Amino acid sequence: MTSRMLIRGGTVLTVDRDLGELDRGDLLIEDGRIAALAPHLDVTDAEVLDATGMIVVPGFVDTHRHTWQTPLRNLGSDWTLAQYFVGIHFGFSKYYRPEDTYIGNLLGVAEALDSGITTVLDWSHNLDTPDHADAAVQALFDSGSRAVFAHGGGASMWRVPSAVPHHPDVRRVRDHYFSSDDQLVTMAFAARGPQFTSPEVTIGDWELGRELGLRGTVHVGDGEWGRTRPVAWMRDHGMVGPEVTYVHCNTLADDELRIIADSGGTASVAADIEVQMGHGWPATGRLLDAGVRPSLSIDVCTSNAGDMFHAMKTTIAVQRALDNAAEQKPGEQDRLRLTCRDVLEFATIEGARANGLDAVTGSLTPGKDADVVLVRTDSLAMSPVNNPAAALVYNAHPGLVDTVLVRGRVVKRHGRLTDLDVDRIRARAEQTRDHLLAQARTDPEIGGARTGGDWIPGSHRVGAADS
Ligand SMILES: [Zn+2]
Repeated sequence: MTSRMLIRGGTVLTVDRDLGELDRGDLLIEDGRIAALAPHLDVTDAEVLDATGMIVVPGFVDTHRHTWQTPLRNLGSDWTLAQYFVGIHFGFSKYYRPEDTYIGNLLGVAEALDSGITTVLDWSHNLDTPDHADAAVQALFDSGSRAVFAHGGGASMWRVPSAVPHHPDVRRVRDHYFSSDDQLVTMAFAARGPQFTSPEVTIGDWELGRELGLRGTVHVGDGEWGRTRPVAWMRDHGMVGPEVTYVHCNTLADDELRIIADSGGTASVAADIEVQMGHGWPATGRLLDAGVRPSLSIDVCTSNAGDMFHAMKTTIAVQRALDNAAEQKPGEQDRLRLTCRDVLEFATIEGARANGLDAVTGSLTPGKDADVVLVRTDSLAMSPVNNPAAALVYNAHPGLVDTVLVRGRVVKRHGRLTDLDVDRIRARAEQTRDHLLAQARTDPEIGGARTGGDWIPGSHRVGAADS
């Protein structure tokens, strides 16, 4: 029997340019898919979700998050990129047990779901043993979210520059968990860019990812590491293509951004972390100039918030500042070039595209899966609603996310996650945090890890990666 659900009477932002926005709309869901959308639908045999006074949007899509790090939340909020490498990759990563990986992923994805992110690309690069990989994947399946598990190998690969080849367990993970493409959790290959390893290993890793038939995601253009022309190198070695997502892109040259565009590649801007850690200016505007509409990502909750409202706000604020600073007479241009609707597209449909999932999510288009978010507008700070897209980008926050559906299944309702045991997840995450800190406290390499904000690890010498 067909299951039917009607989301009734919300303000619907479809993020589908052919369908536009409905001041008042009904969305019919059948067997997990969007079946119909109209100002009024005469349906009497469906379960009704009342969306009166709410903005209805597609679930947000995060294209790059190192979810395993979530229990280390805010420890790195005052760190540079070079300090992050020492504190996290040379320090904490080696103390993770599989159960820590599991709860890190579950906490991170639960947080994402709670804030209306229905697809997370889990850029998982602390997988030293098959047990760690199993735990990471199991948490994604247990979360009830749509997710992409991007296998990024283990800690030894991330003591960069490192000539350790990609962890061979990626083959087992592919065969064991991801033989079907028709599941909520799919797989990608998280590769080191050429700046992080030797040419031979870069090429070997890339061939492995292709052999496994996986999309690729790679960090490039992150601070000083980006000035070595990694994307030009990748082009020269046959490694660019529409199946590749380029994360950060800050310090890539303009012609490298055009290589991404010409090859049909996608990009992921993580503005919050990039402006903190010193990756360079977020590349949003330069990517647009080159012909790439970027997706957005959270990156690391060791520093910044894990929701898309923050990411959208920082993205638009920084790019508008750059655009205005470049004007002869800021404040007098005919119109700002980056709009709130643009940024909402980056956070939804462009994310779906970058994750290879634009046929199933990223917009409220009939035929796609029903990944849907209802945002309340009955707060003082959302009233009155005069421009719904702008309200989402500038005023909304996770506390206003009332309802979240993943493939038509309600995972959050009336402001509460329905399936996940939040208290238990929080308690287990604190146990993991305590375990990791107890181990790291005496680690001479990172120097006295502790909470409270006054512990700053030493800096990784970035120039070492150029040699
Ligand atoms: Zn990253």
